[in-house]
Amino acid sequence: MAVYSAAAAVLAGVESRQGSLKGLVYASNFKNVKQLYALVCETQRYSAVLDAVIANAGLLRAEKKLRPHLAKVRQGVSRNEDLLEVGSKRGSASQVPRFVRVNTLKTCAEDAIDYFKRQGFSYQGRASGLDDIRALKGKCFLLDPLLPELLVFPAQTDLHDHPLYQAGHLILQDKASCLPAMLLAPPPGSHVIDACAAPGNKTSHLAALLKNQGKIFAFDQDAKRLASMATLLARAGVSCCELAEQDFLTVSPSDQRYCQVQYILLDPSCSGSGMPSRQLEEPKAGMPSPERLRALAAFQQRALSHALRFPALRRLVYSTCSVCQEENEDVVCAALQQSLGAFRLAAVLPSWPHRGLGAFPGAEHCLRASPETTLTGGFFIAVLERVEVPR
Ligand code: SAM
Repeated sequence: MAVYSAAAAVLAGVESRQGSLKGLVYASNFKNVKQLYALVCETQRYSAVLDAVIANAGLLRAEKKLRPHLAKVRQGVSRNEDLLEVGSKRGSASQVPRFVRVNTLKTCAEDAIDYFKRQGFSYQGRASGLDDIRALKGKCFLLDPLLPELLVFPAQTDLHDHPLYQAGHLILQDKASCLPAMLLAPPPGSHVIDACAAPGNKTSHLAALLKNQGKIFAFDQDAKRLASMATLLARAGVSCCELAEQDFLTVSPSDQRYCQVQYILLDPSCSGSGMPSRQLEEPKAGMPSPERLRALAAFQQRALSHALRFPALRRLVYSTCSVCQEENEDVVCAALQQSLGAFRLAAVLPSWPHRGLGAFPGAEHCLRASPETTLTGGFFIAVLERVEVPR
């Protein structure tokens, strides 16, 4: 059938690094893109198991041109056990549950839960820990143990066509990506800067925490991403946000418009090396080249140091969906040093299981996240707070 040949071509393209999985699916000109994407993802999801079965059946020895053999050579894996380890990493990435943030600007968790129950989903209450989430299957769902308005569904649940999502009552957002706004925690009425804001998931979360009271100055320099952000914010009922197409580095900290900004969210462009979709495509596909890493880290550090110059700033959250130390702990360490003691890391979520790498004293206050340790995408968060000088 055409869909199988199209899927085979996409998988071959991914293997030979002709492009990303999503990119190749869209470039395939196949009529039913959704069906093709689903088939390719499923094949990828089970590829480790298929590889192992083929290997164990002795086919590798008999037929040297089989894909598992090529995969071993390219990934520098020399033993079947290592191949399985690579497979299990991919497996964890594919097991990241579907997290759904209830948009409290439009509804409440109780109403959303009732809606799902009426649709035949079975509500299991608030999870007591990660084991409850790991055990989720079928049409069961939970409330997250940490975030008050986060629903958790099994990994394969697709809610993109769900009426509550279409109406902006639900935001499909990974749990790790909900932490930055939650940890910034601006009270209603505050002035907040979202420095690199598009496509706006965290902005809409901030607006919900502000209850639309106060002001979010949201910047992004990408016009296309800002356009989709405007649609997302309108759908989510956000009314306290001013969007600007502007390089954050050119936003003046001494501009009177920002004199009340006490909270900044900085979620800059990064390598995306922690994104589960990248890990599904190819274990090391998301890893940037040394040059790209240097360029990204240089921008991230400039942006962070710039943000720390806003005079009324009290609290800042720095986050990335990268797992590279150069984009995370190293950036934070350099900015703290540059601030000459004006800012320090806040000790947040002491029970969070995955902490910052020990790159500098205090780095354990940073948070990391991964499919294996927190059942989320790979993520990094640091909360910086101004050191109050006693009067
Ligand atoms: N915070 C967003 C969210 O939760 O939906 C995701 C932000 S994304 C990781 C990084 C964004 O930073 C991109 O949209 C990119 O266009 C923007 N960006 C990159 N350099 C920038 C700059 N100098 N000033 C403003 N935005 C920038």
